[in-house]
Amino acid sequence: MPLTRRALLLTAALTLLPLSAFAEDRLKVVTTFTVIADMARNVAGEGVEVVSVTKPGAEIHGYEPTPQDIVAASDADLVLWNGMNLEVWFEQFLANLGEVPSATLSDGVEPIAISAGNYEGRPNPHAWMGLGPALIYVDNIAKALTSVDPDNASIYAANAEAYKAKLTAALGPLQAQIAALPEDRRWLVTCEGAFSYLARDLGLQELYLWPINADQQGSPRQVQAVIDGVRTHQIPAVFCESTVSSDPAEQVARETGAAFGGVLYVDSLSDGDGPVPTYLDLLRVTTETIAKGLAATE
Ligand SMILES: [Zn+2]
Repeated sequence: MPLTRRALLLTAALTLLPLSAFAEDRLKVVTTFTVIADMARNVAGEGVEVVSVTKPGAEIHGYEPTPQDIVAASDADLVLWNGMNLEVWFEQFLANLGEVPSATLSDGVEPIAISAGNYEGRPNPHAWMGLGPALIYVDNIAKALTSVDPDNASIYAANAEAYKAKLTAALGPLQAQIAALPEDRRWLVTCEGAFSYLARDLGLQELYLWPINADQQGSPRQVQAVIDGVRTHQIPAVFCESTVSSDPAEQVARETGAAFGGVLYVDSLSDGDGPVPTYLDLLRVTTETIAKGLAATE
């Protein structure tokens, strides 16, 4: 060990700085997108560095990792990804990292199938949007952290239990916002069909322009089908997600007289100073936007 390094460590010990102040001493966890990075931070606690490959606002399904992404992840102790064909780029990315342990957070989730398009019958990958699956994600994160860092198993277990209690407590008030709407207004019209798990929890019926971002997006046929559905069910508002163009959804709104109810968050968090810096914010803001949009009278 060089003298300067030894001196630095000695200084640190003398001033009682936590070891976590030194990046090289911290466990490093890399995730594929920001939502599961926030979940992982809640389970891992302060002593672990958690980094997301895709940044806030990025499209995550067809993302193309850069050489810098690979360099930035090359010293990871653990890589967490969603699975269920969400990150079509993941296997190549992981292969580029060499021998790094990875964990699939959707393992053990009972999938809802995609009901149309080229991926019909495949699992809808947006399982983190449902409470039951989200609790499984949290358990899978704790298990993965424990497998690479067994000394801190009890910390991860305690953090996971506390976070699961928080998530469970959040659902009731969200459900109450939707339950307050007249039943015939409880329709969720979106760009991507990314809300099947949330719609199930909240008691919403779903209509969307395209089943999954990997598919064709906003073709005239898709737009016409949603226009027909909005008219048939007299749906008061349509929405679109933060990571894709809202043009087709706004076209549906114009042609049907429905309101454009605003931006929903599902595949990505916002920056720290944006509206949804955490997963719990994402659930809350998205549900509030839906409830507000559907409650409005023209
Ligand atoms: Zn998506």
